Amino acid sequence: MTTNSITEKFKSILDNSLVLSGDDLKSRFYHIWKTDISLESVCLLTPKTTKQVSEIIKICNENNQEVIIHGGLTNLVGSTKSNSTQVVLSLEKMNNIIEVDEIAKTITCESGVILEDLINASKDKELLLPLNFGARGSAQIGGAISTNAGGLRVFKYGMTRNLVMGIEAVLPDGTIISSLKKLMKDNSGYDLKQFFIGSEGTLGVVTKVVLRLYPLPKTRYTSLAVTNDYQKVLDFLKILEDKISNNLTGYELLWNNTYKQMVSEKTIYNKYLPDDFNYYLFVEYMGTDFENDYQKFEEVILECIENKILDDAVIGKDEKEQVNIWGIREDVAVLADEREFDQQFDISIPVPLIGEVIDKISNELNECDGVKTIFPFGHVADGNIHFIIGKDSASEELKSKINDIIYNNTELVEGSISAEHGIGLDKKKYLIKSRSEDEINLMRLIKKSIDPKNILNPGRVI
Ligand SMILES: Cc1cc2nc3c(=O)[nH]c(=O)nc-3n(C[C@H](O)[C@H](O)[C@H](O)COP(=O)(O)OP(=O)(O)OC[C@H]3O[C@@H](n4cnc5c(N)ncnc54)[C@H](O)[C@@H]3O)c2cc1C
Repeated sequence: MTTNSITEKFKSILDNSLVLSGDDLKSRFYHIWKTDISLESVCLLTPKTTKQVSEIIKICNENNQEVIIHGGLTNLVGSTKSNSTQVVLSLEKMNNIIEVDEIAKTITCESGVILEDLINASKDKELLLPLNFGARGSAQIGGAISTNAGGLRVFKYGMTRNLVMGIEAVLPDGTIISSLKKLMKDNSGYDLKQFFIGSEGTLGVVTKVVLRLYPLPKTRYTSLAVTNDYQKVLDFLKILEDKISNNLTGYELLWNNTYKQMVSEKTIYNKYLPDDFNYYLFVEYMGTDFENDYQKFEEVILECIENKILDDAVIGKDEKEQVNIWGIREDVAVLADEREFDQQFDISIPVPLIGEVIDKISNELNECDGVKTIFPFGHVADGNIHFIIGKDSASEELKSKINDIIYNNTELVEGSISAEHGIGLDKKKYLIKSRSEDEINLMRLIKKSIDPKNILNPGRVI
């Protein structure tokens, strides 16, 4: 089928304004950090209803037409790239919040809603959607589900998977599978929603979702603390868990050069503490006791300074200071902007080994010609460390060398090559370092039985 005729087919089921092709694609892109590169695609479709998604996918299936799904385009594994023979389906117009149920503590919405809008709508009803990460202002909930996103509060509330109660999705043949129940428990057969969580759009298009919410904490405090010794990073965590475990909602780490970059004069962030410590810890405390929470948090921090677990610490007093402190941790675009070429990583390593493994990796990267900047940071309490590595060229040889250093060291300690970003296109070659051949074959079998024509997000993951 020609490009024109399939576009005409889409125009027969969708309002023409929902079908972009030709010059209209020039202003579109495949990633929020690549807005200068025009989208390659047969056409881009922006359906408004699940029924329209189903009709689009049916046409694609009947015509062996490959289709790439676009959410908020914040993934870091090349998943939303397309070529001129592929159709792009964007969920951006399916952005309605359907219901916040204050009694059941759930939020039901379409999959194109921006995560931050869901967080705010929950907050308006005194409820907490704990899913929280740097890209929340652009990422959509459908993208977060498809990547099983993690973020800053995983060790307290779990990954996205732990928050999903119900899903509606369109299968690669157009069938709508809808289970938007608000049940905590449902063992009536296979838990089908799990097929769509973390499978990166290879098994279905997520169109609606029911998420679990929590009571909204009344207080929130943030501390930035420093130490020179990784063992003390672990000791500090243990003390926080012993003394304020119910209130501990974030424990994040920046290495020295990452902190230095984030508070350099190029950025908008205040330098609260000198930039010559090895480790910078970001601690979030949330509670319900307005009278006593600050004091409780401050006491633990002071005790750790007195006992020389910490070299120093500050506590963000008001919202403005907390926003600034968390900006230092979250605004990682600053790190990616440092060089024209960069590589991103999100590995999982057993928590006790993180200090030595990251030092080893950094030393090996430092020996690598062409590597200009090495910025490690991450969700240290759950073992997930990110790297943004700046380079002086796009050389494939250098890229492979860097991948080998990071993934070989990860494999040595039985870590994972992807803690949260997924595999997409970029990490496929390395999947075997985290999963057995039998596991990968089972993934292939599942993909083949659900999408025998391989039309949905082809080439991603496996
Ligand atoms: C600054 C920054 C910080 C980040 N921090 C974190 C972090 O802490 N934790 C974390 O986990 N990730 C993080 N990410 C990565 C990214 O934000 C997440 O992977 C996010 O969940 C992607 O959502 P999205 O809507 O942007 O999806 P996209 O990038 O558009 O798509 C991601 C994948 O999901 C598929 N997809 C999208 N929507 C749907 C749908 N409705 N149905 C089926 N498939 C779909 C796409 O085809 C693609 O394969 C970060 C990214 C940035 C830029």
